[in-house]
Amino acid sequence: MSDRDTDAADAFDVLSDASRVAILRELADRTHVVDESTVEFSDLRRAVGFDDAGRFNYHLGKLQDQFVVKRDGGYAPTAVGLKAIGSIESGTYTADLEPRPGTVDYDCPACGDQLAATYENQVVTVECENGDDVFVETSVPPATAAGSTIQDIVSFVVGDLQRDVEAVADGVCPICSGSMELEHFERADDGHLRARSECLSCWMAAELPVGALVVRHPAVVSLYYDHGVDVRRQFLTDLEFVGARGDAEFVADDQSVVELTVGVEGDEVTLRVHEDFTVETT
Ligand SMILES: [Zn+2]
Ligand SMILES: [Zn+2]
Repeated sequence: MSDRDTDAADAFDVLSDASRVAILRELADRTHVVDESTVEFSDLRRAVGFDDAGRFNYHLGKLQDQFVVKRDGGYAPTAVGLKAIGSIESGTYTADLEPRPGTVDYDCPACGDQLAATYENQVVTVECENGDDVFVETSVPPATAAGSTIQDIVSFVVGDLQRDVEAVADGVCPICSGSMELEHFERADDGHLRARSECLSCWMAAELPVGALVVRHPAVVSLYYDHGVDVRRQFLTDLEFVGARGDAEFVADDQSVVELTVGVEGDEVTLRVHEDFTVETT
């Protein structure tokens, strides 16, 4: 165990009390980051339902300075406090939701049949009923799944995977918001180049097809849009330049720059991806 582990455990310990979660949630609901508003001590105490000012003050003190700050005579949540409340809310509906199987509005790239999906135990699984290789299995927070159809959940997953990949492409960790660093491009067993990157703060490491790093580049988005396809609504692996068929290659004699061509119905755009994650069109 390191000091960081101890600090992290202490942070959880602070939030392991229902009164403190209630205080933080109240502050998150009643303040706005933009106008730097705060809530006064007595207002906050009444809102959370404490009669004993001493005990309330004790719990509030535990939340300071990591989750709550005092300023201008009032209290406001810190950025970490707001994020903690978001994490708590996203996992709140922990009651086991009914499994929801069904077909979804995405076609199998191999056979063309509609894909089947189910959500159970916080995990959504998408597969082709004919056994083609399109298997997707990923976790979805209960707050997202509550009240959603299986189609909604799968659409969320498609967008969520893309947003995570986009964060990585921007050099930002989708888990902890720390900096991600592209370590190197390497050739996978299937012969295709992949981009390996690692978060400098947490456990997150990503190994992505190089094409994944350019999916939301404006040149790619508009190329697809011109051909009637909203690239943001596609499974990443359905996109030819991302899937195993992608043909990214090193620029001659330079293992730090990779070039790939994205084509749609005869139109194409060529992009270069550098080791610092920057992407340019050629
Ligand atoms: Zn199929
Ligand atoms: Zn991280």
